[in-house]
Amino acid sequence: MDNYTLVIAEKPDAAKRIALALDKREKPRKLSENGVPYYVAKHNGVEIVVVPALGHLYTIAAERKGRNHYPVFSFKWVPRYVAERKATRIRSLLQTITTLAKKAEAFVDACDFDVEGCVIGYCILKYACGAKEHKSKRMKFSTLTKRELEKAYAEALPQLDFGLIEAGLTRHEIDWLFGINLSRALTVATRKWSGKYVTLSTGRVQGPTLKFLVAREEVIRSFVPTPYWKIRAQVETDGRVFEARYVKERIENKKEAETIANSCKDKKGQIEEIAIREFKQPPPFPFDLGTLQSEAYSLFSFAPRRTLNLAQQLYLDALISYPRTDSQKLPSTIDYATILKNLGKAEQYYKLTSELLLKQTLKPNEGYNEDPAHPAIYPTGNLPQRALEPSKRKIWDLVVRRFLAVFSEPAAKQNMKVYVKINGHRFHFSGRRILAQGWMRYYEPYVKFDELLLPPTKKGQIVNVKKTLLEEVFKEPPPRYNPSSLLKDMEEARIGTKATRADIMQTLYDRRYIEGERMTVTSLGFEVFDVLEKHCPQVISTDLTRQLEEKMDRIRENKEKREDVLTDVIGILHPSLVAFKEEEKVVGEQLNDALERSKLEERIIGTCPVCKTGKLFINYSRKTGKRFVGCTSYFKGLCKTCFRLPQRGTVGSSGKNCPACGWPTVEVRMKSHPWVLCFNPECPSKTGNEKS
Ligand SMILES: [Zn+2]
Ligand SMILES: [Zn+2]
Repeated sequence: MDNYTLVIAEKPDAAKRIALALDKREKPRKLSENGVPYYVAKHNGVEIVVVPALGHLYTIAAERKGRNHYPVFSFKWVPRYVAERKATRIRSLLQTITTLAKKAEAFVDACDFDVEGCVIGYCILKYACGAKEHKSKRMKFSTLTKRELEKAYAEALPQLDFGLIEAGLTRHEIDWLFGINLSRALTVATRKWSGKYVTLSTGRVQGPTLKFLVAREEVIRSFVPTPYWKIRAQVETDGRVFEARYVKERIENKKEAETIANSCKDKKGQIEEIAIREFKQPPPFPFDLGTLQSEAYSLFSFAPRRTLNLAQQLYLDALISYPRTDSQKLPSTIDYATILKNLGKAEQYYKLTSELLLKQTLKPNEGYNEDPAHPAIYPTGNLPQRALEPSKRKIWDLVVRRFLAVFSEPAAKQNMKVYVKINGHRFHFSGRRILAQGWMRYYEPYVKFDELLLPPTKKGQIVNVKKTLLEEVFKEPPPRYNPSSLLKDMEEARIGTKATRADIMQTLYDRRYIEGERMTVTSLGFEVFDVLEKHCPQVISTDLTRQLEEKMDRIRENKEKREDVLTDVIGILHPSLVAFKEEEKVVGEQLNDALERSKLEERIIGTCPVCKTGKLFINYSRKTGKRFVGCTSYFKGLCKTCFRLPQRGTVGSSGKNCPACGWPTVEVRMKSHPWVLCFNPECPSKTGNEKS
């Protein structure tokens, strides 16, 4: 075997699909070397060897070894196994690629067409294939279907996209510079103070993201709830009771509210006006990744990272198009009709797709956002060859139904507002109905609309007032961030990329800067943020992050040079780090305090149900070393409460209260299965206790 074309794919599944698509008989040979599988396909009489990467095979490392010194500004690209001990598979993979490259005559980069994919392919061609980066063609595709892969191979771009590559390399390099220097500064300061090694980290995007969370947390904590009053009147018409709202939604003055409510008591009402508003609601836009993630979060409670993983798998199964896209557009080169016809082979879509295919023209309702590399996410029309695992199926079905809805008609809705005068005061109640379902039928069950039909009413009609209600309400603080709303704010502020945002969130959890699905900043998170804000405020500013994003866009358009951007970044980091070093002692003390406190906080389970003032926490007996639940009031001599805990496995707060007795509970983890345990010996439900 020689004089073949070497095709580099991003993942093993993609390599297999490419080989299958390009082989004349759809039966490529699977070979392996050093345990690394690759494929040989026959295509128009030429041999094609398709070899997979495993995502990034190269990474950045410092020129100088050692993890204690900073600032660090000189670095090099190295194979991942050099920088990370665990990445041993990568060594044999790179050896295989190098061997295969020696006898290859032509090279094709078939990695995903986006920033990351471009960097992956470029590094392999440059470092593993012997400087072939300027002699390689580039396949560009958005789905792994046979049709598109054949076309992408036949019409491969004559060279790599160097603008995109430069932008990608720059992103990795500046993120590395920020990450390594700031994380080392935090870690070194902590260790110099306490002698203990604890990994603390922050980064170019992580810092500003933490800033969002801290700012929200501060608003919530300093929020002073003030009351206001709401008035409702239960109005009876046609034997049904409707709750009518007083026109002024919030009454700040209690006296005023009471006077109005009292003067409406036992009075009749008269219908004064009926306002009918009809409106059309256009179909939704095709999915970009962010919208898919937020939709999956609200429908299925899938965290953004999980949705991306599932979408990625569906892409590798050739069921949907490439998910890492910002586009809300579906270009007409995508053969809508064929996709609909193929989807119609599945029973559940047959009726809907047949209806759409009867249309004169198929025109999607597109959004404004574009992405130079990929269209919006759409189903390829392929059907799963075997039953999909339930969560994957959910995402696939959501993508399919969204695609169908996009081609449909607007929905027509009607809102009806009835104004009632009660002793001179105006109230209203409203109904809503659907006049035409339009796209909603296609997007069901992912869209819900509760109709509320009103009985026929006439102007001047007298209605009974059954009751008036006066309610004291407290203004609510803004809600805590959840993964979906944080993602949205990151997108809006243009920090991070669609490929990295979900991972950055996870890092904040892993480092214990935040906790809970309703993201709460821990005291460690607060302190780390405080340190950064005091000593290097620039690096946590969203402005800087945004400016850098803009510069990377300019690199991509060949309007700016990578070297210049790196010089700028070093110019920003250097003085901050020097200043930080001078304050190392103060910072070290502050961070150690925070770490100690957060360790204690993690042991706290909840308020003590016995003395009602102390906190229950997980404690260890000095004599026996056994763990138990104690109360913090014990140290003040006020509460001697203590409870037994299982001695095996790990125990921590579950964050939940026992449904039977209301006491705080712990989560016990042994091997893989965690369970929630109520340690109250008198709890009416003692099922959990039996296991201990
Ligand atoms: Zn107590
Ligand atoms: Zn209980």
